[in-house]
Amino acid sequence: MEWLLTNARLVDRAEPVDIAIADGRIARIGPVIPGPAAQRWDLEGQVVLPGLVDPHVHLDKTYLNSGGFFPNRSGTLLEAIHIWRAVKRQRSGADVQSAVRRALRAAIANGVTAMRSHVDTEEPADLETLAAILEVREEFRHAIDLQIVALGFAGTSPVIDRAMADALALGADLVGGAPALTPDPQASLAVIFALAERYGKPIDLHIDETEDPASRTLSALAELTIAAGMQGLVTAGHCCSLAFMHNASAGKVIERVAAAGLHIVTLPSCNLVLMGRGMQPPPRGVTRVKELLAAGVNVCAGSDNVQDLFNPFGSYDPLQTANVTAHTAHLTGTDELRACLEMVTTRAARALGLDANGLREGAPADLLVLDACDAQEAVTAPPPRLATFKNGRLIVRTQTEREWI
Ligand SMILES: [Zn+2]
Repeated sequence: MEWLLTNARLVDRAEPVDIAIADGRIARIGPVIPGPAAQRWDLEGQVVLPGLVDPHVHLDKTYLNSGGFFPNRSGTLLEAIHIWRAVKRQRSGADVQSAVRRALRAAIANGVTAMRSHVDTEEPADLETLAAILEVREEFRHAIDLQIVALGFAGTSPVIDRAMADALALGADLVGGAPALTPDPQASLAVIFALAERYGKPIDLHIDETEDPASRTLSALAELTIAAGMQGLVTAGHCCSLAFMHNASAGKVIERVAAAGLHIVTLPSCNLVLMGRGMQPPPRGVTRVKELLAAGVNVCAGSDNVQDLFNPFGSYDPLQTANVTAHTAHLTGTDELRACLEMVTTRAARALGLDANGLREGAPADLLVLDACDAQEAVTAPPPRLATFKNGRLIVRTQTEREWI
């Protein structure tokens, strides 16, 4: 046994337990586990959670406004894309790598053990950025599982389609896109599914990130997923238009989403910033989390953009994301708060195709220790993180000390 964590409080158990870690996995969970261990840690009732999973970030854009300004004057998605296109070449591969290292260190210290990042892949220069990020992925392979999505406006130009294909050949794990932001969403979806079939990759798209109640790309995605037999392998992020359509229409779309086994990622921080600009009163712009959960859809929650041209906020903290999700979706009951925690742990792991059993015997020992003895605080008042373990290895330990005078 490499580690024996004693007196750990778990979300689903009344009494503290011991956790034995061996061969990178959780060997045993029980009231009192005897036997020698290479290292022991008495947690004194502090909460242990399964490793946090951030299912949707943009590492190639992160910290671009860290000089302390947010140049996106309108605060809209379209202006963010416009400025990003103008400035993205000003960052060298080395600049991107240092930003990505900073992001991964922040995430891991917050307890993140798996993450999925979209990376622009629209022209040959983007592939150099992708290669730089793939190098950093190797550096951090012992500490975090990092999946990369090739993100481009597929179907709008042969150059973009070529770049996306090259990215998948280079090491991107999933086919991405934002079909609702292209002139012909159906044509874009057709190219995306063709790339997925050709390279044998799953799909993760930005879907209906718009206030337009008539946008139905999510329905089209559900039908194509069923037709391709890709249930469980397709993820849809944002899905904001669901929040702007009538209940009856939304209900029909959600029914198809459930039938297609789509994973839905809500990105509340970014959508609260970008959606509904100029509308009074300002809408929340966040998808219908409650109704999707009630329909049995696997809903998870991600950071999206962190401190860049799209969103000035964020710290790669999934517990903060769970907290904002609970606020925006009116999820405040005990079971609902638990669901918000699942959205950044087991539900998000399921979307990423990882072990989604959480803290169970036999599962990979990906876990974090909170500086708190009340599990509900993980969502209601995200506490400091004390340690992150990845595959049974202690990756980072944080000391917290306060002196009252
Ligand atoms: Zn995004």
